[in-house]
Amino acid sequence: MTGLDLSAALQRHFGHPGFRPGQAEAVAVAVAGRDVLLVMPTGAGKSLCYQLPALITEELAVVVSPLVSLMQDQVESLNGRAALINAQRNPAENRTALGRALSGEVRMLFVAPERFATPGFVERLRPARIGLFVVDEAHCVSQWGHDFRPEYFRLGEVARTLGARSVFAATATATPRVAGDVVRRLGLRDPARITTGFDRPNLSYDVVGVGSARAKHEATRTLLSEPGALPAIVYAGTRRKTEETAARLGRELGHPVPAYHAGMDRGPRAAAQRAFMSGETPVVVATNAFGMGVDKADVRTVIHESVPSSLEAYYQEAGRGGRDGRPSRCVLLAEKRDKGLHVFFINQVDDPEAKRHRWRQYREVWGFVEGEVCRRRAILSHFGDRSEPEATGRCCDVCSGSSVLGPRSWPPMGSPSAERRAPEADRPSVEQAVMRVVREAQPAVGRTRAVEILRGGRSKVVRKYRYDELPGYGAFDDWRAGDLLREVDALIAGGRLRSTGGRFPKLKVAA
Ligand code: ADP
Repeated sequence: MTGLDLSAALQRHFGHPGFRPGQAEAVAVAVAGRDVLLVMPTGAGKSLCYQLPALITEELAVVVSPLVSLMQDQVESLNGRAALINAQRNPAENRTALGRALSGEVRMLFVAPERFATPGFVERLRPARIGLFVVDEAHCVSQWGHDFRPEYFRLGEVARTLGARSVFAATATATPRVAGDVVRRLGLRDPARITTGFDRPNLSYDVVGVGSARAKHEATRTLLSEPGALPAIVYAGTRRKTEETAARLGRELGHPVPAYHAGMDRGPRAAAQRAFMSGETPVVVATNAFGMGVDKADVRTVIHESVPSSLEAYYQEAGRGGRDGRPSRCVLLAEKRDKGLHVFFINQVDDPEAKRHRWRQYREVWGFVEGEVCRRRAILSHFGDRSEPEATGRCCDVCSGSSVLGPRSWPPMGSPSAERRAPEADRPSVEQAVMRVVREAQPAVGRTRAVEILRGGRSKVVRKYRYDELPGYGAFDDWRAGDLLREVDALIAGGRLRSTGGRFPKLKVAA
């Protein structure tokens, strides 16, 4: 098929005047029957890259996606040319869908990944003539992705068993490492790798340090009250906070603000999504369960009230803003306390490799939050995108030297005593301070003692060994011991410090 034919097909099936970057190439290679690894940022138009080939070839495309709402939206928008099989539908509906796929009545069959584990399902689907086997959100196959799903493991094998002509993997979140994993795990054969840039020039990025929950709430309210701030998504971190914040904002803004999280019943959750999509409620407060597949083009503000667990997750969630290409703000309100929460969750992970990976994500996301380089540049380099970042308006708090909420305030202080402290610039980072104390303390100290020194403790031992003369002594007297301990533990877990073990373990700088 020529490029001209493809453009005509695009017009005919979707009414779009032209392809966006990367789309024409992806469609062409998919039509030609090659395996594809498509990496495009959220909102760039990935679904069209497999939908159009499915519509212009004679074969059935099987589309696997973990996102129920996304599948539903896509099937609806395809007006009878697609059917859907998932656990939300009753067995009779699912049987009908399968029948329509087998008879060639529909061109696309959307299937939830866990369905392939149902005994007999693959065999029932086998008689279909399958062209593309599409794995959407393909990063879910990788343990290095932020959203690993074990059901994804078998999909490569399933595709081959079904005799699919080619496998089409699509994702918005492939770092080079995840991309490698996707290719391996799905068994892609010499795939065409199509990647478009990750820069979203119309988004501005601000990281704002806040010292307390109250300051955070005020910041959110201020941001939402500014002209042009709506529609807006507020990511609140946990289910409980999502509900509290929604209720509070509803009172403060004087209009209903729905909450959205995976713990809600299906009815109210769908209602919250509908109300937001239709513009009836211009603000939604959500956990990260919201948004995958939410295709609302005109979101002007995305506020994070807690630091996501990885930079990929942040990029993806913030990326729900400004899909229409118009300027939109992404504001990350960061509280030091979030670190403790991250560490707590990482420590729940049993598998050592997974844990090491989580620590890595921890360092990356906090490196971003506490870093002093252009936010846009930091994001692009994280994704291995070496292009020169280009903002169409405001770029970020670092580049403009002030945040959307006024003077830049990172790093935030942990407690009210913070205001009395020397300017933040005068003190070392907590990592530097811990490393230095460990290096210089004689005799060597353990975790608790190191923390005591940083907090300026006055115990007998401190005085006896003159730990109070060490650089860094008392530099973090406004921090809670638990938070500092977590920093020390992060350094141990990250391999920069080690603990000697034994009854009174001492810290050493790792060789
Ligand atoms: P992704 O899956 O990459 O997040 P989608 O496939 O949901 O993105 O597409 C985002 C939006 O862009 C949709 O509203 C879609 O209709 C629109 N879109 C995709 N391709 C084009 C195009 N070539 N021209 C105009 N709009 C497009």
